[in-house]
Amino acid sequence: MDFHDLIDGLSDGAVVTDPDLLASYRQDWARDPDAGTPLAVVRATSTDDVARTLKWAHDRRIPVVPRGAGSGLSGGATAVDGGLVLCTERMRAITVDPVTRTAVAQPGLLNAEVKKAVAEHGLWYPPDPSSFEICSIGGNAATNAGGLCCVKYGVTTDYVLGMEVVLADGTVVRLGGPRLKDSAGLSLTKLFVGSEGTLGVITELTLRLLPAQPPQHTVVATFASLTDATAAILAITGELRPSMLEFMDSVSINAVEDELRMGLDRKAAALLVARSDAPGEFAGREAAIMVAACEKAGATEVFQTADAEEGEAFAAARRFAIPAVEKLGSLLLEDVGVPLPRLGDLVTGVAAIAEHNQVTVSVIAHAGDGNTHPLIVHDPADAAMTERAHQAFGEIMDLAIALGGTITGEHGVGRLKKAWLPDQLGPDVMALTHRIKDALDPHGILNPGAVL
Ligand SMILES: Cc1cc2nc3c(=O)[nH]c(=O)nc-3n(C[C@H](O)[C@H](O)[C@H](O)COP(=O)(O)OP(=O)(O)OC[C@H]3O[C@@H](n4cnc5c(N)ncnc54)[C@H](O)[C@@H]3O)c2cc1C
Repeated sequence: MDFHDLIDGLSDGAVVTDPDLLASYRQDWARDPDAGTPLAVVRATSTDDVARTLKWAHDRRIPVVPRGAGSGLSGGATAVDGGLVLCTERMRAITVDPVTRTAVAQPGLLNAEVKKAVAEHGLWYPPDPSSFEICSIGGNAATNAGGLCCVKYGVTTDYVLGMEVVLADGTVVRLGGPRLKDSAGLSLTKLFVGSEGTLGVITELTLRLLPAQPPQHTVVATFASLTDATAAILAITGELRPSMLEFMDSVSINAVEDELRMGLDRKAAALLVARSDAPGEFAGREAAIMVAACEKAGATEVFQTADAEEGEAFAAARRFAIPAVEKLGSLLLEDVGVPLPRLGDLVTGVAAIAEHNQVTVSVIAHAGDGNTHPLIVHDPADAAMTERAHQAFGEIMDLAIALGGTITGEHGVGRLKKAWLPDQLGPDVMALTHRIKDALDPHGILNPGAVL
């Protein structure tokens, strides 16, 4: 393939064809063994680079896989053979406006960098995926990422007021803006949030900010059974809106303890980390309500702290759960969610699926959202075990759908879960989704094989 006319139109060094470098852009964190090898990677530094690349690819009908930081867990940024990977990691500008409490950010900034930049103005960007130090804000918008504080503060879409997006043919459009209310026209900004690179490439985001988060009180509780823990979750959410309500099962508790040695109870069946950031003395009062709810549900031990560092250590332990469990083997990562009253059925149902398929499944969860991450551990060198792991992967999504839930609460469908999307959405919604995709990307060059 001759890239000269593409290279000539872009910033210096934007087009990469070195095979060693290409290899590092083939997979995201889902590490799909069937990932393709791209013809080239474009590391855009501006909207103009993105627009020229898409026009070039559109004219030649060459597939383009948009990519942020590659931390996705659904194979959404998996490269395809004969295509381009269009990466936004070098688009890193941000401006903060404390008056409107908004920030305008390019997509390649990491979530943690956005948080840091706005904190310098006494402001806070809430959505906090556990991967906040390694995922980009563009990828967050493209997946509608959630996180630990989302139980109280909502997910990425709740903070996206506007964006600049480049369409499949290279047309640049601006949607929304720094307005807290705006009913003009269709809600197109929201259409692109969560579109997983299938409708356009996000080149700029206008983000809503909040005043800095008040200090948090943290409650940590252990339980002898999964059902006691899920009863406590329902009791807590029935009384108040915590600023965090996270769940770890015994496999993840032990995997984290193996790595961090922080004294977690290895015999516990489940551990909850709950927090309150209610103003002033109310944080302590809410923490006391959460302690009482855990005790009433049969907690074996409950611990409460107002110390920021101590509380953060437990939140960090929960954030570390995926890398810790990954030490046990390769993972198939689920992201299933259910309405809260069905959380107990989901968690016990997953345990039954693990048992009859004879695979280890560790469950961690943004429990207050009803959003769980069953992590199916397997050894790819063991073909029979890998087959059982894939069987369990499908059964868990079937279970979530049967419980009125979703196959993905925050990671997106990507390539790994798309076979189950029709079962959740049904034929009419799938047909509508295809009509929208065809209208915006008639030649299907954007992220082919993902979602649809
Ligand atoms: C240890 C770990 C913990 C995690 N915890 C969480 C969590 O708590 N909550 C959560 O929501 N996620 C979590 N994730 C998943 C992941 O970090 C998020 O999905 C994140 O939003 C992906 O961002 P990224 O920049 O890495 O995107 P990528 O992986 O590069 O891409 C993700 C998707 O977005 C598309 N995309 C990327 N950038 C753009 C763009 N500019 N325009 C259009 N499309 C684009 C890609 O095509 C792909 O479909 C976790 C991942 C890891 C590894």
